[in-house]
Amino acid sequence: MSTLRTKLTAFSLTLLALASCCPKETSSFLSQDPVDYVNTMTGTMSTYSLSTGNTYPAVAVPWGANFWTPQTGRNGDGWTYRYDATHIRGLKQTHQPSPWINDYGAFSIMPVTTGPVYNEHQRQSWFSHKGEKATPYYYSVYLADHDVTAELTPTAHAAAFRLTYPEGQSYLVVDAFGGGHVELKDANTLVGYTVHNHGGVADGFKNFFIVRSDTPFEACPAEDNVALVGFKTVRGQQVHLKVASSFISPEQAVLNLNEVTGSFDEIKSDARKAWNEALGRVKVEDENIDHLRTFYSCLYRSVLFPRDLSEINAEGERVHYSPHNGKVEKGYFFTDTGFWDTFRSLFPLMNLIYPEMSAKVQEGLVNDFLESGFLPEWASPGHRGCMVGNNSASVVADAYLSGIRGYDIEKLWEAVIHGAHAQHPHVYSSGREGWEQYDVLGYVPCDEFNESAARTLEYAYDDWCIWQLGKALGKSEEELAPYAKAALNYVNVYDSEYGLMNGRLADGSFARPFSPLKWGGHFTEGNSLHYTWSVFHDIQGLITLMGGDDAFNAQMDTVFAMPPKYDDSYYGGPIHEIIEMTVMGMGNYAHGNQPIQHMLYLYNWSGQPWKSQARIREVMEKFYTPWADGYCGDEDNGQTSAWYVFSAMGFYPVCPGSGQYAIGTPLFKKVTLSLPGGDVVIDAPANSAESYYVKGLKVNGKPWSHNYLLQSDLQKGATLRFDMSGTPDAVRGTRPEDRPYSMSNQ
Ligand code: CA
Repeated sequence: MSTLRTKLTAFSLTLLALASCCPKETSSFLSQDPVDYVNTMTGTMSTYSLSTGNTYPAVAVPWGANFWTPQTGRNGDGWTYRYDATHIRGLKQTHQPSPWINDYGAFSIMPVTTGPVYNEHQRQSWFSHKGEKATPYYYSVYLADHDVTAELTPTAHAAAFRLTYPEGQSYLVVDAFGGGHVELKDANTLVGYTVHNHGGVADGFKNFFIVRSDTPFEACPAEDNVALVGFKTVRGQQVHLKVASSFISPEQAVLNLNEVTGSFDEIKSDARKAWNEALGRVKVEDENIDHLRTFYSCLYRSVLFPRDLSEINAEGERVHYSPHNGKVEKGYFFTDTGFWDTFRSLFPLMNLIYPEMSAKVQEGLVNDFLESGFLPEWASPGHRGCMVGNNSASVVADAYLSGIRGYDIEKLWEAVIHGAHAQHPHVYSSGREGWEQYDVLGYVPCDEFNESAARTLEYAYDDWCIWQLGKALGKSEEELAPYAKAALNYVNVYDSEYGLMNGRLADGSFARPFSPLKWGGHFTEGNSLHYTWSVFHDIQGLITLMGGDDAFNAQMDTVFAMPPKYDDSYYGGPIHEIIEMTVMGMGNYAHGNQPIQHMLYLYNWSGQPWKSQARIREVMEKFYTPWADGYCGDEDNGQTSAWYVFSAMGFYPVCPGSGQYAIGTPLFKKVTLSLPGGDVVIDAPANSAESYYVKGLKVNGKPWSHNYLLQSDLQKGATLRFDMSGTPDAVRGTRPEDRPYSMSNQ
């Protein structure tokens, strides 16, 4: 952090200098490369009971097969790096998407000088954040107990290490975790494998690794799953390691070592370049350096997951280890994402800004289906039982409807149709739990299934996605009619007595007693106040159910105005998402979890868009920072970050698949998006901390009265000029024809 503070001082001085010599409208913009604004520590000040992100400082290339992280927690602890920790016990190759899902294929490397110790508790060392330099492409730390500076820089399947030792007898530990194996193959080479995992892998799963050193080693006695090697060093001697791994074979791991052919500094420079290329697709100009830091830290999180697990074999073909069948299969394979989280805005962000990656991800989904018979809902690396919904349908539909091509969409059509009427035999959350009842009743009955209202709401939206995709693919009306009808199934769990969504029994009656404050039960990690808005594709239909704009707006207002009360009886205690709601001081609005994250935008449908603008700005300013406690709940593999990235640009994909973005309030004076079809320039010159209301908007120079943008307009390149004001505009965007997409209005 000392590095960042130094930069802040230098930057502030620059601003002062500018202020004294230049007109005030000279706004500062990227005076550093985008990657230099990223704080990888954002979200690492987290615990089991309160998440401020539940992240670790991932060192990787964008979408890399492997990430690396300093490890402060014991082997197997999901909280692998905690900002408040004092000791590091290794530099770990990790594939962990979330502490709740935990890691697989992990192993670690640790330089040691305190004697021939290798146990993870004995080898650990004091460290300080002031002795750390953490960036997306490079990490270094001074390990005080060993007087060693350890540096690492990654490629997709490999990494280079530079270890600077003191004088004397030195050691290196390679820890393959429990059940793994590692041995000294020759004086300069350690080889081994790790079997570490928490499910979602085929029998016989191994991550094979190789560590090649420029300094010869001698083996010292250690346990089977740990290698301890010794060597003499002089003060300041640098030991260079090249480390590669493969989920396929030891031979493939050797091939992957070819990614690290240059010097440490060359590899570091390449990784830095990869980050600047990815982050540089969005260029932000703003005077507030903390905004820039928050933005690029969020964009960094948005391009880490899903992880590209594919490798290039000796024949130059792209192949992958299949966690579904344990075989080596052709083509791409992506993993470590939960669609319940990431369908909302992470994949829509990829479809807009990184469409070439989206095509690869969709090819990977085809492979998931071919190898397992299902699309994943939560993948790490294979199917994992977690959360609800069948939101793979949204991920598939939004990509195709966004114009992504180059993969077997007919196979994916087969996959989404299959998944809508089936459940994975071993993994409850792949396919649809309760699909038979849903298909008959039009809802998942609460006396037969838990979290039934949440399932119904998401299945209804997923059915709408299937319907839209089917229309784009030219499927017959006969085939599509059931999905068009089922898209309205959200109506079936609307409890008109309370004006909110509720669980419904198989006999048609609604669950009693009903508490809008009860988390879980009929809902998933949220209550009815959070889930009632999960009608992404038909907000007008929801407004009609509630009795019109006024009733809808009143119900929306209530969520923010009420105290942060909750009923945690379903969980037997307040889950961390509950606490994260209570501490933010916005009533029952729970931005720390995903179900409600689109809700702030919904006043765009109900004649009061200025309320959306005020709330969105409040959340951007208050709920996100670039510091260690920077998120307001689990970051969740790019979803909570992508919310910020979209929102800071001034729009958000409330309904992926609709081809529209709802308008919010741009955070910056200027943003330039480099898209394949042309640049999108978002200008808001009057923007400030006080002027966050949208008074007017011009798209390509023409007045635009709507509360939405068309994706197709942005994809061609566009100019958006926002006219900002410090007072709400009670007229703009209030006409029915200015409201964003609703199925009921078509
Ligand atoms: Ca979450």
